[in-house]
Amino acid sequence: MLYFSLQNNQHRVSFEQAVVQGLAPDKGLYFPDHIPALEKDLVDFLDNYDDLDIAYRAIHPFIGDEIPMAKLQQIIHDTLNFPFPLHPVQKDIYTLELFHGPTLAFKDVGARFMAGCLGYFRRNDARPVTVLVATSGDTGGAVAYGFHHVPGVRVVILYPSGKVSTLQEKQLTTLNGNITALEIQGTFDDCQRMVKTAFLDQELQLHSLLTSANSINVARWLPQMFYYLLAAKQVKVMGADPNIVFSVPSGNFGNICAGVMAAAMGLSVKHFVASTNVNDTVPRFMLNGQYDPRPATPTLSNAMDVADPSNFVRILQLFANSLPDLQQKMSSYSYTDQQTVAAMEQVWKEQHYMLDPHGAVGYLGLQQYLQHNPGKATGIFLETAHPVKFADTAPKDLQKAITIPERVQNLYKLQKQAVLLPAEYDALKEWMMQH
Ligand SMILES: *Cc1c(COP(=O)(O)O)cnc(C)c1O
Repeated sequence: MLYFSLQNNQHRVSFEQAVVQGLAPDKGLYFPDHIPALEKDLVDFLDNYDDLDIAYRAIHPFIGDEIPMAKLQQIIHDTLNFPFPLHPVQKDIYTLELFHGPTLAFKDVGARFMAGCLGYFRRNDARPVTVLVATSGDTGGAVAYGFHHVPGVRVVILYPSGKVSTLQEKQLTTLNGNITALEIQGTFDDCQRMVKTAFLDQELQLHSLLTSANSINVARWLPQMFYYLLAAKQVKVMGADPNIVFSVPSGNFGNICAGVMAAAMGLSVKHFVASTNVNDTVPRFMLNGQYDPRPATPTLSNAMDVADPSNFVRILQLFANSLPDLQQKMSSYSYTDQQTVAAMEQVWKEQHYMLDPHGAVGYLGLQQYLQHNPGKATGIFLETAHPVKFADTAPKDLQKAITIPERVQNLYKLQKQAVLLPAEYDALKEWMMQH
């Protein structure tokens, strides 16, 4: 499989080059040069296949022989070594729990898969590579845990001081080893600006070999299709209605784009709902075809505070830039924090199920779509993080009811280790040159 830049379809690279570079030199996102079809027997009889086999058959065409079969199987095994259960919430509505991984968010899947691929591609290189990443919370933890102990790779994470949740900070700052957390006295935008400047700094590049683990990397984006396939398998096993509607809480639109890709490959999906918070660039676009990003507004579902979602161009590409075709397959709605909290309260009161603010936005989008489009369907909203990750900002009455999963309980006792730096590029550069 070759990948082309969405800025210039003449620029084509291998899977390895796309993974190592992240972004094309012209700043375009990489996109596969054809959409492989899933085998008919696989789509028709998903319930006859083992989870790891489903994942292998789906991803293998995107990688070809660039990673040997046994190695790719091992990467998939390491990526999917936790469950993705469908949990019933109310009649015909299920949540797909994507928070059973090490950092309690769906980003674990993409980060672990990418770490496996990059570790393989760098296996014969003596020079260590530095993964430099800015985070508003979830990405940093997933990348840190994904790359922990991967030989030849070190990870440097910039996070805004005081602006990530307690649990997120513990995840970022307690691994040590090949992971370093830089606590920046500024905002997420400052962190991002510092990282971007580092990637343009020739002098720094001579000193350290830098790469990014950004969500636009094909090795983070594509494996997210796994859980749509595994959800469809569970629907089949349960004997529920096969008309599946997926509602995906969306920020940078990478997650939903992987689902749309799975559908383009032949997975049967009735409809997608892209649910957002008040950062509603895509819902507005879906109404009038005007792509008009406004500055991002902070919300309770802060992993989705994205004004200009990078992966949306990939979704457009999957529909050959046709808005009517896109509207046929995808709807998009936005919700305020007030609506989000009301949904969390309601689902807790009526179903005794605890949503996190991102999942709550997904739940609201699913409800709205099903109300406007009655008919047989199995509705699935993706629960992208465990509620404990956002417990700090949950309503007081819910806070008390949030349980802390056993596997993160000891994190609260560990000592934070971070390097405090001012929000200035020179400070980052000086630290990088010394380490
Ligand atoms: C990153 C994230 C999202 C948004 O996912 P995208 O792929 O950027 O659309 C949603 N929920 C949580 C909890 C996240 O961490």
